[in-house]
Amino acid sequence: HPVPFATPERVQDAINQGNRDEPIPDQAMDYSTYLEADGYGQLKGVLNDGEANHETIIQTLENAKLRGLGGAGFPTGSKWRIVRDYPAPRLMAVNIDEGEPGTFKDHYYLKRNPHRFLEGMLIAATVVDAAKIYIYLRDEYAGIRKLLQRELDALIRNPPCPLPPIELRRGAGAYICGEESAMIESIEGKRGIPRLRPPYIAEKGLFGRPTLEHNMETLYWVPELLEKGPDWFSAQGRNGRYGLRSFSVSGRVKKPGVYLAPAGITLNELIAEYCGGMQKGHRLKAYFPGGASGGILPASLADIPLDFDTLHEYGCFIGSAAIIILSDQDSVREQALNAMRFFADESCGQCTPCRVGTEKAATLMSEQEWDQPLLQELCQVMSDASICGLGQAAPNPLRSALKYFPEEFA
Ligand code: SF4
Repeated sequence: HPVPFATPERVQDAINQGNRDEPIPDQAMDYSTYLEADGYGQLKGVLNDGEANHETIIQTLENAKLRGLGGAGFPTGSKWRIVRDYPAPRLMAVNIDEGEPGTFKDHYYLKRNPHRFLEGMLIAATVVDAAKIYIYLRDEYAGIRKLLQRELDALIRNPPCPLPPIELRRGAGAYICGEESAMIESIEGKRGIPRLRPPYIAEKGLFGRPTLEHNMETLYWVPELLEKGPDWFSAQGRNGRYGLRSFSVSGRVKKPGVYLAPAGITLNELIAEYCGGMQKGHRLKAYFPGGASGGILPASLADIPLDFDTLHEYGCFIGSAAIIILSDQDSVREQALNAMRFFADESCGQCTPCRVGTEKAATLMSEQEWDQPLLQELCQVMSDASICGLGQAAPNPLRSALKYFPEEFA
């Protein structure tokens, strides 16, 4: 079988990527500037108010309707409460693997204000009483790693309050290590493959201990949310949705980039209000609403609210809000094949439906004529029987291409 296990060459490629001489981003706010701007004030407040106030903080997050922004959208306050209710010692893991194709929001925020994320991380660690924190950083972000290490060193040299031990860990270029349990295996020093659940990692995570796992951006919002209150955050949604989302927009628009916009904004609104419209000579044809795994939607569905839970009836999801915009000059068929090849390459190989299914689907999709009944059957097996989200979501671009763009397969 030609894929998917990491060959020595692939591992070396990843290490070379991470070792490349990328400069530290110069627009980052450093520790002293952050402190001058009352940085770490919310953390000190949480510590001063003591444990009695921790439930209030959790309620604030719940009232703000803050959800996990790595893709799964689990309510943040509830997660903190669940972890806190398990016996100590508890641990914490921060996921900055950011491997979903089209997602670049964590990089965007980290290179500007790393301490805002670190403050949110330390508030979370205080509330769940985490004995140690592991930060798992995408290895390709070589400049960000230097920046984070420099700022962590500054923080630890001159801490605003007692800190738990913090370790910055390098990933090694594997998409699957963005899956929380595979990331935990990787932090433990093992091959990064997802675990069967239950038990969930809130109960048995790192080294068998209860673990709070969060995407970087979720923690990034915590200090501002505590400062401005839950209503400020939850009031910002649109079309009946709550809060803010950081959309990573790429593709055929005039101004691709990271845009902080109301949750529930539609694609047409996002393109018109934030992205400067479509590129000259391009007409909107389709879009990936959630990176490679979130499926593909047609232009006729560009007026539905973009948020967690709103796209399921269309066979798609928003995930980490990576919007990839395709025009009349793009082939959806080619894009679906490209996504399937990606999944075949990144499958960890642990379970057969995904390991064999993605490879077989990519082979069938490379044919001039697609065997649609067989592909549909493969999709069903992959989504029903795969262990983790990679195999379960791999069929999404294929299924939606067949459903919404039948003319490309006539
Ligand atoms: Fe690995 Fe794919 Fe199975 Fe997930 S679904 S455990 S990535 S083989």
